[in-house]
Amino acid sequence: MSSVPGAWRRTAEGAGLLSADGSIAPTIFAEMTELAAETGAVNLGQGFPDEDGPADVLEAARKAIADGANQYTPGRGVPSLLSAIAEHQERFYGLAPDPATEIVVTAGATEALAATLLALIDSPDDEVVVFEPYYDSYAACVALAGARLRTVPLEWPDFQPDPQALADAVTDRTRVILVNDPHNPTGAVFSPEIRAEVARLADEHDAIIVTDEVYEHMSFGAPHVPIATLPEAAPRTLTISSAGKTFSATGWKIGWVHGPADLVTAVLTVKQFLTYVPASPLQPAIAAGLRLPDAFFAGLATDMGAKAAILGSGLRAAGLEISEPAGSYFTVADAAPLGARDASDFCRELPRSAGVVGVPLTAFVTPENRDRYATLVRFAACKRVDVLEEASRRLAALSAG
Ligand code: PMP
Ligand code: GLN
Repeated sequence: MSSVPGAWRRTAEGAGLLSADGSIAPTIFAEMTELAAETGAVNLGQGFPDEDGPADVLEAARKAIADGANQYTPGRGVPSLLSAIAEHQERFYGLAPDPATEIVVTAGATEALAATLLALIDSPDDEVVVFEPYYDSYAACVALAGARLRTVPLEWPDFQPDPQALADAVTDRTRVILVNDPHNPTGAVFSPEIRAEVARLADEHDAIIVTDEVYEHMSFGAPHVPIATLPEAAPRTLTISSAGKTFSATGWKIGWVHGPADLVTAVLTVKQFLTYVPASPLQPAIAAGLRLPDAFFAGLATDMGAKAAILGSGLRAAGLEISEPAGSYFTVADAAPLGARDASDFCRELPRSAGVVGVPLTAFVTPENRDRYATLVRFAACKRVDVLEEASRRLAALSAG
């Protein structure tokens, strides 16, 4: 861990990224994966699959390297991937972004989010409204962009926002409403009413909607609906997704943004000075993936739903209460029935007490709101069935002990 120099300290403090001793804290995901490796625990902490994705996609990447796709690509992305993203949006959602002007390929959703926020924030008075708990990079990027974070709580057990709390958070200072659906870390999928309310509020206050849909094919409760499909939202929405989850290739970091040409150009302007372009041979491979038949995509949601059910039974049998997820990789459990007071302590002990790693929900909230989530833990179901069964066996020791 290194200590934070000069001007960066304020940004890091603003985003809650400093440890008590003033050094930069590693992300909770890195910390928990390290703990799993040290203890030999089953890692249900960091959300990454333990099996490869479709063989055709892997082969397409090998072939692209062999065929010489190894130099910089055009700034927006390789044409075959831009068209494949447009076709995917049309096939699943009836959206038809123009590949030449309304899409840009990024280094994962992470870069897409960073470039989007950096592009859209104009002044230190701008506010970004997010649902809390939120994916950790949101607070960091809002701080880097020099804006203010406004949070709308999602509460146990269903993690659906209160429409009034949402309406109270969105004001004329709101520059961006950032919506992650299906939601990490809670596993919630938002209702049509909430999507409509986001669109209405954005229109009323002239805000931009930014969506993070990286779990778009892992909505096992109801079919996924992008906010951009609402006609009133489309002209003010930037839709972000990535290949990591859909193709079980979280290390490839190929993402994208689409939306109105002027907003996408603003994102491109920033992104070209972050990475310039992401990995060239992986782009045609993801284009091949996005063109796989419907059955492949339908199978993703079915598989993840089945895995979430196995994880859920294991957690219940261990004496935890769970919030039934409707999408994403994740299930949130309450460790209070086992006597836990602080999920952070519980998660640091769990590898030794049960041989399993989870992530405390407090890692996804602003420090002043920690109490609301104090005993909640996120577990990832994106693992092989035998691994989930082994985790369940290990967790059973908690209720026996
Ligand atoms: N958003 C959410 C909600 C995530 O869970 C993740 C983690 N994969 C990301 C963004 C980052 O995606 P990528 O790996 O494509 O950068
Ligand atoms: N998206 C993954 C998760 O929520 C982690 C990504 C990361 O390690 N930054 O677990």
